[in-house]
Amino acid sequence: MKSGIYLVATPIGNIADISLRALDVLKNADIIACEDTRITKKLFSLLAVSTSGKSFVTMHDHNEEDISQSLIDSASSGHIVAYVSDAGSPLISDPGYKLAKKCRKQNVYLTTIPGACAAICALQLSGLPSNSFTFVGFIPNKDKARKDLFTKYKNYDSTLIFYETANRLIKTLEALKDIFPHREISVAREITKLYEECKTGSVDELLTYYSDNQPKGEIVLMVAPSNEEENIDYEAELIQELKKSTLKTAVKNIVEKYNLNKNEVYQKALELKNG
Ligand code: SAM
Repeated sequence: MKSGIYLVATPIGNIADISLRALDVLKNADIIACEDTRITKKLFSLLAVSTSGKSFVTMHDHNEEDISQSLIDSASSGHIVAYVSDAGSPLISDPGYKLAKKCRKQNVYLTTIPGACAAICALQLSGLPSNSFTFVGFIPNKDKARKDLFTKYKNYDSTLIFYETANRLIKTLEALKDIFPHREISVAREITKLYEECKTGSVDELLTYYSDNQPKGEIVLMVAPSNEEENIDYEAELIQELKKSTLKTAVKNIVEKYNLNKNEVYQKALELKNG
């Protein structure tokens, strides 16, 4: 096997998803770089791959800059270096980007050993359009940052893919409801594991479902591309409503009829009334 850096994907739940090539690289590697040596050594044990004679090096977000250079130096001096993240594909909301960038710049052999990636598996399960998609990664925890992120992607004409945690799902769905009231949403949970589940529907349907069934485990959240329903032209109808009722009632009627964002319709009503 050629010396260099091997980016090795590992299973996201089902150990049998390891590839034959991944096994081969893990068996032959001199150096195993990983996020957490305990997790990776457990993986080796489940795969019945011996750890003896291999050195394990920790590389995570906080030390990637320094460690990646020493991995590259080892690869350049003839070693086989495998990088694995805790689960799934390296670089996808996981470390590895700086390592890959340095390999390109320094002309060091870099290859990928493909395998599971939660984002792609979730898209396959969702039933949402797969011809064009945008992987956004983790959703920020703070209300404003979350809202800003959703607003930024509001008009993207592609399926949006986010990573999320179970304990934040309800809050995130509520925030999605404000920005994407008409979109189909999909939640893929525990992919490749015993309780794998995928639910696709309106935000309200998912909010009802997950209020009754407390979400658990690992989650990928997806939002369908922007659609025509969102661009409902309600202005003419709002003008008629404003002629026959108060501003408050007119806004309420339009919001309820088209399931629109209340603040947006209120602003529009004010503009019409004042202008
Ligand atoms: N690099 C990994 C990959 O390729 O899937 C993702 C790593 S990221 C740190 C971990 C996030 O991926 C989890 O919080 C969850 O959102 C998602 N994830 C990982 N495994 C999953 C699974 N089996 N089912 C659903 N989502 C999963």
